[in-house]
Amino acid sequence: MKLKRLTAFFFIIALLCGCSAPAPAQRSFFAMDTIMTLTVYGDENTAALCEEYVFSLEQLLSAQLPESDTAKLNAAQGNEVELHGETVELLEAVVDFCHEADSFYDPTVYPIVKEWGFIDGNYNIPNEARIAELLEKVGYENISLNGNAVCLSDGVQLDFGACAKGYAADKLTEILKEKNVSSALLDLGGNIQAIGCKPDGTAWKIGVADPFSPSESVGTLAAVDCSIVTSGNYQRSFVDENGVRRCHIIDPHSGFPVDNGICSVTVVGKNGTRCDMLSTALFVMGTDKAVDFRRKNDDFEMLIITDGGELLISEGLVEKFTPSKKYSDVEVIRLEE
Ligand code: AMP
Ligand code: MG
Repeated sequence: MKLKRLTAFFFIIALLCGCSAPAPAQRSFFAMDTIMTLTVYGDENTAALCEEYVFSLEQLLSAQLPESDTAKLNAAQGNEVELHGETVELLEAVVDFCHEADSFYDPTVYPIVKEWGFIDGNYNIPNEARIAELLEKVGYENISLNGNAVCLSDGVQLDFGACAKGYAADKLTEILKEKNVSSALLDLGGNIQAIGCKPDGTAWKIGVADPFSPSESVGTLAAVDCSIVTSGNYQRSFVDENGVRRCHIIDPHSGFPVDNGICSVTVVGKNGTRCDMLSTALFVMGTDKAVDFRRKNDDFEMLIITDGGELLISEGLVEKFTPSKKYSDVEVIRLEE
């Protein structure tokens, strides 16, 4: 299952050709359930430091690692747990965002994600009574923060699956800035962080996966100093006995995998954590609510691909997007401001 997931994720790639600068330091490794590739125009030690940092963050945040902050919090059954600074920083951003995004993004949906089998790969369709029972414990209001002491109401559990890579991208950006690296591309499997531009002064070109054929792209985005994050129904899913495809992103209001006509949402913005949470939230919202949300918040751009193969692109992204040959005839719908 992991391999299938990787091939889908890995397709968001950087097109690095055309550089005559010294070879970058490159690290490829498996972390946070995906393959990551760091391309750093700096020394090997800096790239190695970044890799180590990602592993340390995974140790803190992965709900599957019993010593992580997340696992301890989930096991605490209503008691307070003292968490590390990074976990608290991320949790604060998460709680604020849940409120802003009207719970379309909510990390406490985790027990339902598990119940459908998206964590261990033992896929299963829970019955409605079971979903109703689990939904009673879903809700970011059940997270209390008091400095570094955090408490989840009894029976509530969470995971950072929809934001940890974005947070990692932000922290790596800080590390690279401290090390005076002005050009780097961080591919964190579905999450891309472009630092500066390519050494030749041109923008990075990032392929956006075609949800109908994830090894191909619908086109490329020109990227300089930004985060590009995609949430898609092709990244992890199973087909049930009735032939219905069930994807890994769950609507926290219903407890069911999202099936609203969107295949993928790509978000471009300055902050990796926010872009990661946004891509998930907008995917769950569906096209109309996502367009409304974008009209009210202009700190990001988005590209939505629908079941019908339609591309909806926000105004600020039109110039940066070059469609692939296959998609050159597809109508690009501008989301007017
Ligand atoms: P992403 O690929 O960033 O959209 O994150 C999807 C992952 O986040 C899933 O595999 C789940 O672990 C978790 N997740 C699923 N649905 C939601 C949701 N509505 N809000 C927050 N996290 C979710
Ligand atoms: Mg996300």
